[in-house]
Amino acid sequence: MDFLPVPNGIDYLSEVVARLARPDAEVSPRDLKYAVLHLQAATEVLVKARLQIAHWSLVVKDLSKCTKEKYDRGEFESATVAESMRRLVDMVGVPVRKDDREAVEELAKLRNRLQHWGLQETVALVEKQAASVLDFLMRFLDEHLMPALKDEQLAALQKDMDFVRHGVREIGTYVETRRTRLHVELKEHADKTAQCPSCHEWALVVDREGSRCHFCPRAWDSEQLAYAYTESFETGNIEDDVSSGDCPECWTRTLIVGVRTAAAPGQPIDMCFNCAEVFTGLRLCSCLEYFVPVAEEDICRRCFNLHMEMSGINDS
Ligand SMILES: [Zn+2]
Ligand SMILES: [Zn+2]
Ligand SMILES: [Zn+2]
Repeated sequence: MDFLPVPNGIDYLSEVVARLARPDAEVSPRDLKYAVLHLQAATEVLVKARLQIAHWSLVVKDLSKCTKEKYDRGEFESATVAESMRRLVDMVGVPVRKDDREAVEELAKLRNRLQHWGLQETVALVEKQAASVLDFLMRFLDEHLMPALKDEQLAALQKDMDFVRHGVREIGTYVETRRTRLHVELKEHADKTAQCPSCHEWALVVDREGSRCHFCPRAWDSEQLAYAYTESFETGNIEDDVSSGDCPECWTRTLIVGVRTAAAPGQPIDMCFNCAEVFTGLRLCSCLEYFVPVAEEDICRRCFNLHMEMSGINDS
């Protein structure tokens, strides 16, 4: 068997690192665009190469419409990347870590955004996501694809592989450097720094003048931020028990109960993403609004007033 897809996949990877493994100022929007497209292509080609080694039928989307003859002529629709990843795990038995799988899914989303709206993302975000996928693909190549190649095929790929390996390290270094620099810069805001719903870095500084993620970097509208943060929890990106409600201070729907901050990630706090107020001793009223009890009362001010009015009406 001749595994032509592997050199093809490595060729795509060379394109990715050639565009990204450079100082930020030298990376153009066009570089970002092609890096994303080529990385997605590389992922698809390499994952399918492994499926093909197990059995040709695993790359076919719908087997009821395919024969070996059609397959050999290339007349078939192939499975999506997400489905190929599933088959890799469930049918071939290749172990794939959860974070690797998520990185591949994030890349697919990035690629879809690119196709529909053009790429709005910054070098930092694309580099971060690319670094995660590249890291997975390099391990995958080493452990599950290279061993299937003949010595002369390996030798032919050596130079390209060295180039890719070097580039991957470079991109990883940029991401790590950015993270370290931010860690120092944001230290004094650690008690107001949370995980960004967009890039998942601990770089989102909540501020009443406007919240901003310093990694992406992205400025957030407070209500959008509250929504994205809770949503992010629900899709499992931020693994926590998070809920939202109206802020007892500014009355905007931006109160988040269970925010983890960089200052003490193990102790979630209750904070408003609009006025940046932090609350202790919040209680949930039966009307489902959060409130800060003044004297151990267990209903909110609004319900209390309503209750008084009602009893007033009853009395008279
Ligand atoms: Zn971010
Ligand atoms: Zn507030
Ligand atoms: Zn109430």
